[in-house]
Amino acid sequence: MRALKYLLSSPIVGSTFLSCNEEDGSVLDQLTGLTPANDVNLGQSVVAQIAANPTDYPVLSDSEYPEAYNYIRDMTAAIVASDDVKYKDLFHYDEVKIIDQDVLNAFATPGGYIYVYTGLIKYLDKADDLAGVMGHEIAHASERHSSDQMKQQLGLQLLSQIIFGQASDTQLAQMAAGFFSLKFSREDEAESDEHSVIYLQDTDYACNGAATFFEKLTESGQSSGPEWLSTHPAPDSRVEDINAKANDLGCSKDAVVETGMTYAEFQASLP
Ligand SMILES: [Zn+2]
Repeated sequence: MRALKYLLSSPIVGSTFLSCNEEDGSVLDQLTGLTPANDVNLGQSVVAQIAANPTDYPVLSDSEYPEAYNYIRDMTAAIVASDDVKYKDLFHYDEVKIIDQDVLNAFATPGGYIYVYTGLIKYLDKADDLAGVMGHEIAHASERHSSDQMKQQLGLQLLSQIIFGQASDTQLAQMAAGFFSLKFSREDEAESDEHSVIYLQDTDYACNGAATFFEKLTESGQSSGPEWLSTHPAPDSRVEDINAKANDLGCSKDAVVETGMTYAEFQASLP
């Protein structure tokens, strides 16, 4: 996979894809970068790969778990209402899905399709902590970290073929495998932590929910976890940075006052 990624990351100038599409000026524009609309195309391809693989990605059905979906969608909508979230009309933040696996993770595809695991929801103690994680993931999509990393790690040639609907099944599978092994830079992680605080400032949730999650992970000695633990800086400094950002913003809300379904009831509604 590493060798394959290296090949796909090689420069695309002079590639067969470019030469056979050179009559189309828009293709050249696309090859210099990805537009936010391209992010949505890529995200839809990842979503299709996930839907086609229910063994690895057992997504909970909407019709069987309507209360859980109402809860997570209400939470996501409250976060996305922040003025700081970009591409609200274009990205698909409202299509959040729950994957039924004991995994401490959540992720967002390019274009804002968000997935959160039941393992993470059950591990966390309160709504604010999950809101902090969701804010972080929304930021990876909104700040376009995911598409930028996919471009760097998979190469524009493969991504362009996917965007233009020219990719083979094998290439689509390669793209999905690449997406699930994405590594964000520490700058991206720090930026997403910071945006999580900014987003939550405009909600009823405590602004530093993401920090609380890190503290819980550190205390419990969890070594593996969300994508955001796989990179530097260490959780301790991220807790400090998140709390400092909340202080800078004068944001000192305590845990959200729950109306309607409580976080405990949300957890209990899951399989
Ligand atoms: Zn992250």
